[in-house]
Amino acid sequence: MEKRTELYAGKAKTVYTTDDPERLVLEFRDDTSAFDGEKVAQLARKGRVNNRFNAFIMERLQAAGIPTHFERLLSERESLVKRLDMLPVESVIRNVSAGSLCRRLGIEEGLDLEPPVQEFFLKNDALHDPMINESHMITFHWATEGEISRMKELTRQVNGVLQTLFADAGLVLVDYKLEFGRFRGELLLGDEFTPDGCRLWDRETREKLDKDRFRQGLGSVVESYEEVARRIGVEL
Ligand code: ADP
Ligand code: UDP
Repeated sequence: MEKRTELYAGKAKTVYTTDDPERLVLEFRDDTSAFDGEKVAQLARKGRVNNRFNAFIMERLQAAGIPTHFERLLSERESLVKRLDMLPVESVIRNVSAGSLCRRLGIEEGLDLEPPVQEFFLKNDALHDPMINESHMITFHWATEGEISRMKELTRQVNGVLQTLFADAGLVLVDYKLEFGRFRGELLLGDEFTPDGCRLWDRETREKLDKDRFRQGLGSVVESYEEVARRIGVEL
C-alpha cells in the first residue's frame, strides 16, 4: 500500500489517496478546533493519542458486528481505512443531557435520557451544522429511507457496545457524533470515534474528560484523553 496525494485537509485530519482506489489513509493531526472552526489550537500528542484511541474503538465495534471503515494502524498518526462515499450528515446520540440539546431546549445539563435521544445534523460549517430531520435527508438526497433506518440501527448498536465499555472504566458516555458512508452498496461507520467527538465524564466526580476541556478552556486536554485511553485499555 502506497500513500499518494492529499485528497482533503479537514480541521483535525488529513485524508490521502493510496494506490488502491478503495483505500484511504487518515492522518490524525495535533490540530484541534471548536465552534465550527472559530477556536483553533495545536495540542502536542493529540494526533497520536486519537489515532490509537480510534483504532481501539473501531476494532471493538467491528468485533461486536458493526461494520466500520477501519482496516489497520499504519504509523503513529496514520490509519488505513476503506474509502467511503460519506453521507453529509452527523448522527448524534445522547445518553445524558449536555451541549446543544440544553441550549436549544432549555434542558438542565446532566439528566439521564431514557430512551437516549438521537438527532441528525447537516455537516456544513458555514451554516453551523444545522439540525435536520428525516424528511430533509430524503428530499435533498442526503440519505435514502433505507440508509436512515440503517444509520439509526447501527447508532443504537454502537451505543450498546460503547456505554458498557466506558461504564466498565468508571466513565459516563454522555453523547457523541457518528458519521457513515457507502461502500459497495453497504453503509459503514466512518470517520473517527475519539474524545474529540464525544462527551465523557468521570462517573464519581463528573469531571469532563473530553473536548469540552478545550471548548471551555479547562486545560489538560490531551492529558484527559490519555487518562480515558488508559482507563479503557488503549495502549499508548
Ligand atoms: P472536518 O471535515 O469536519 O474538518 P476532519 O478534519 O476529521 O473533519 O476531516 C476528515 C474528513 O474525512 C471528514 O470530512 C470525514 O467525513 C472524512 N472521512 C472520514 N472517513 C472517511 C472515509 N472512510 N472515506 C472518505 N472520507 C472519510
Ligand atoms: N459533535 C462533533 N462534531 C460536530 C458536532 C458535534 O463531534 O460537528 C459531538 C460533540 O463533541 C458532542 C456531540 O457531538 O459529543 C453533541 O454535540 P452538541 O450537539 O451538543 O454540540 P456542541 O454543544 O458540542 O456544539
